[in-house]
Amino acid sequence: SALTPQQIDALDWDKQLGLIPAVVQDASTLRVLMLGYMDRAALQATLDSGHVTFFSRSKQRLWTKGETSGNFLDLVSMETDCDRDTLLVRAQPHGPTCHLGRESCFPNAPGHPGDALSFLVELDDLVKQRERERPAGSYTTHLFDKGVRSIAQKVGEEGVETALAAVVQDDAALCGEAADLLFHLQVLLRARGLSLGDAVAVLRARHGQPHRGHAPSE
Ligand code: AMP
Ligand code: ZN
Ligand code: ZN
Repeated sequence: SALTPQQIDALDWDKQLGLIPAVVQDASTLRVLMLGYMDRAALQATLDSGHVTFFSRSKQRLWTKGETSGNFLDLVSMETDCDRDTLLVRAQPHGPTCHLGRESCFPNAPGHPGDALSFLVELDDLVKQRERERPAGSYTTHLFDKGVRSIAQKVGEEGVETALAAVVQDDAALCGEAADLLFHLQVLLRARGLSLGDAVAVLRARHGQPHRGHAPSE
C-alpha cells in the first residue's frame, strides 16, 4: 500500500522545512528500526525504487539506506499519521539497519528476549577480535589455535551434553550446556569465516516458507 500523489501533496511539508520524519518499522516483527527524514524527492525515490530513501541532513543529499553497506530496506508499506506530519514506513530489512551492526538503532526493551539475544552480537564481535589478535591466555585464542577439527569436536560434545541435560530434566544444566554450545558454535562458524548471522539469515529466508524441517527420528 503506497501513498497516492494526492496523499503526498496533502502531507504537512511546511511544518519542518520540507522534511517529514519517517519512522521505519520491520514489516514482520514490527520492531522500530530507525528514524529518518524524507523530502519530496526522497519519498518519490522510495516509491520508485522500493528502497527506503531519506534526505540525509548530515550529507545534505538523498541517501538510500544500504547504498554502501548493502543493508537496504525494502519498502512494504507507507502510511501517514493523524495530522499528516509523520510517515510510518514498514520495510523488510536486508541485514542490520543500524550502522553499528545492530538490528535496530534503538535498544530492545529491558527484559525482552531480544535483549538477551542481542548479546550474541556483542559476543560475536569479541570472538572476531580474539581471532584477529590472538591474545595469550584467552580460551578463545586457544580454540582458534587448535583449529576447526578440534572446535568441531567440542561443538559435538556440547550438543550431546545439551541433549542429555534436557533428557534428565536438569534445567540449570540445560541452560549451561546450551550456553557452551552457542559459544563454541560461534567460534566454529568464525573459524570457517562465517558468523551466527549467516546461520540466522538462513532461518530468516526459510521463515514463512512451507515447512521443510527434518522429521523427528522416532
Ligand atoms: P548505508 O546506508 O547502510 O550504506 O550506510 C552508509 C552510511 O550511512 C554509514 O556509514 C553511516 O554514516 C550512515 N548510516 C547508515 N545507517 C544509519 C542509520 N541507521 N542511522 C544513521 N546513520 C546511518
Ligand atoms: Zn503528527
Ligand atoms: Zn543506528
